[in-house]
Amino acid sequence: MEMLYNSTRSKGISIKASQAILRGLSEDGGLFVPDHIPELDRSLEELAQMDYRQTAFEVMKLFLTDFTEEELRSCIDSAYDGKFDTDKIAPLKEAGGAYYLELFHGPTIAFKDMALSILPHLMITAARKNHVKNEIVILTATSGDTGKAALAGFAGVEGTRIIVFYPKDGVSAIQEKQMVTQKGENTLVVGIQGNFDDAQSGVKRIFADKELAKEMEEKGFRFSSANSINIGRLVPQICYYVYAYGTLLREGKIAAGEAVNVVVPTGNFGNILAAYYAKNMGLPIGKLICASNENKVLYDFFRTGAYDRNREFVLTSSPSMDILISSNLERLIFRIAGNDADQNRALMEALSGQGKYQVTADMQAALGDFYGNYATEQEAAAEICRLYRDYDYVIDTHTAVASAVYRKYTQETQDTAKAVIASTASPYKFTRSVMNAVGKGDKDKDDFALVDELAGLSGVKVPQAVEEIRTAPVLHKKQCEAAQMKDVVREFLGL
Ligand SMILES: *Cc1c(COP(=O)(O)O)cnc(C)c1O
Repeated sequence: MEMLYNSTRSKGISIKASQAILRGLSEDGGLFVPDHIPELDRSLEELAQMDYRQTAFEVMKLFLTDFTEEELRSCIDSAYDGKFDTDKIAPLKEAGGAYYLELFHGPTIAFKDMALSILPHLMITAARKNHVKNEIVILTATSGDTGKAALAGFAGVEGTRIIVFYPKDGVSAIQEKQMVTQKGENTLVVGIQGNFDDAQSGVKRIFADKELAKEMEEKGFRFSSANSINIGRLVPQICYYVYAYGTLLREGKIAAGEAVNVVVPTGNFGNILAAYYAKNMGLPIGKLICASNENKVLYDFFRTGAYDRNREFVLTSSPSMDILISSNLERLIFRIAGNDADQNRALMEALSGQGKYQVTADMQAALGDFYGNYATEQEAAAEICRLYRDYDYVIDTHTAVASAVYRKYTQETQDTAKAVIASTASPYKFTRSVMNAVGKGDKDKDDFALVDELAGLSGVKVPQAVEEIRTAPVLHKKQCEAAQMKDVVREFLGL
């Protein structure tokens, strides 16, 4: 069946998957959503026998129906190859009674690689299918991990340019070094004075700028997005939940059909939304456990039905979750509003106007699949320490938030279902915070000295992604105010 994509903000927009990938965001400011959630057409037993690439094909073919089998397989093969340091692509590690789904074995050691290693291939294929002649300009706001993963994916890709904005003081030292050492004539990395929400809002404003779009068109450019608002990022993220379930089944850890809880350290709500889609496709998932850090706007939302961003923005040691406007929540709101674009638009207008909205009692009742909670800085650090001490397993600061929240959940509910915890970054990406958590973060040592100590302590080899930035020269030094983002874009494109 042909899958079409609608906007969350107006009725009557209906486009093919490849067009939705090319556009990123709908021109009415809405996000593209599939017009229905397809059911898995392979049995769980069949899926359990598949490797990552096969599983990805079985999932993605149901959403990207205007891609041929050959196109889709070629995108998948180009993405999930030797760039990953394991054939399994997304291995599961058991520790302390839970299964950690390690999503950080790609080239930039964060889970963003799972989708951003395939997005450039999907986009180029989509451009070809739609006879797009203009150069594609990827415009991205990052809280640290998307930026590098998108740069790695798009650097040197013919017919594309990529511009990344990150909060100058809101990312880890290693995250920043990864981005500012990026090679490639078609890349630009800019630090902004402001936080992630400022960067994300700035990017959305540029996308919505009709005059700029016209000028771009005249000069042979068009924008697209590598943020998780792009459906081409969301769909590849569904695959690893299906793969994780298959792995548990293949290894005899669960029986076919047994419900498994999924725990996700959440920021922009893309990763957990992918798990929700997987559940709706028929994958036996029990609770979707949404873990926040001290920016606990989602916890409050699940508890009260009120989304309120009017609060202090906290800089934490899990910076990729330091977000007060979780963009992808809009896709869930649209769905629980019965796919009513008018109702969703009214709520999103309230969010951009007053910074808050309240869902109806019916909508709140439809959130029963979710459980929300949060972990403080101290709780997350204690969780890193506990897993290291008791199980010899070192997790990063984001995964620690999820793991700590999962413990709160089991204590509160006594739910004994097995759980998959999305492990979203390598501890090496947040070395200083991780070493601090285990009591070995010496202030006088630089980040790379701590990297070597972490290697000794964890027994995990220093990833290539970290080795290569040790001595790499800084190539991007540009900084700007959030208000100047548009000028920076124009200058880079020679407008
Ligand atoms: C992006 C990111 C998150 C948050 O994922 P969302 O899809 O934005 O909710 C969590 N952890 C890490 C390490 C990330 O890079």
